[in-house]
Amino acid sequence: MVVMRKKIWPRTAGDLASMAFVLIIVPLVYWFGLWIVLSELYKDKGLQYTLHFVLGTFIMLNIVGNFTYTVLCDTSTVRNVISIGTAKTENGWWLCTVCESVSPPRSWHCHTCDTCILKRNHHCVFVGYCIGFYNHRYFVMFLWYLFLGAAYAFCYGSFFIWNRVPFELSTIIRMVFPMMIFFFGIDMSIDQFYLVLYVVSFVGTLYTGVLCIYHFNLILRGVVSNESNKRNYTYDMGWKDNIKDVFGERWYLTWFLPYIKSQLPHDGTSWCSVCLKDD
Ligand SMILES: [Zn+2]
Ligand SMILES: [Zn+2]
Repeated sequence: MVVMRKKIWPRTAGDLASMAFVLIIVPLVYWFGLWIVLSELYKDKGLQYTLHFVLGTFIMLNIVGNFTYTVLCDTSTVRNVISIGTAKTENGWWLCTVCESVSPPRSWHCHTCDTCILKRNHHCVFVGYCIGFYNHRYFVMFLWYLFLGAAYAFCYGSFFIWNRVPFELSTIIRMVFPMMIFFFGIDMSIDQFYLVLYVVSFVGTLYTGVLCIYHFNLILRGVVSNESNKRNYTYDMGWKDNIKDVFGERWYLTWFLPYIKSQLPHDGTSWCSVCLKDD
């Protein structure tokens, strides 16, 4: 069951800046790709234009939807912690001295979020919250669609840009320092602005691509970042069950939209009964 988080405002300046960057740049690249690039490449606005427009909007819908779910979905241990005095630290349950409670196995305390997080993967500055048991699916899909969107914008942006600006040294310089040249007023032309977005889509493709490989690899091996660093594979149940632990019973449908329901196999605390299962 998805429980909504109440305080979603980022807690640090770094989180706020990173989140603001995503919230500004994603709509800008969407606008650039669909309104500028597509209109230029398919002037007749025919079938191809419509197909690309629908596909681009589908990607955008998934980015926005999965981002929203990642931010809103409460994955802290508040539902599960047992106050000190009534619980024992056994079966992987442990005492969090900050929360002053006994927290479930695989949970870790986040000092930024100021709470313990169920199956904590990491604190993501771009959503200003931790990635854990309940929002892992949405985070990974957010990342995947960011990658698709950036790669898509970069491919079609290439046709557009190289038709418009000459391929020469000055262009390369304008591409290496695109932000500086634009924001310091050296070149405030719309072409320079397009170049900024084009470079952002290129860097974004590489960045999100690497992160996608890293995170899908963790999921397949049934570990979170912390366990992977310590080479702790206690909870690896084989790739299919590992996938269900993140994407739920209907994992094969979750790529389509975040609104599709897919029940997670347990409540995020029952790791020991799972890892001790007999095959
Ligand atoms: Zn804690
Ligand atoms: Zn956190």
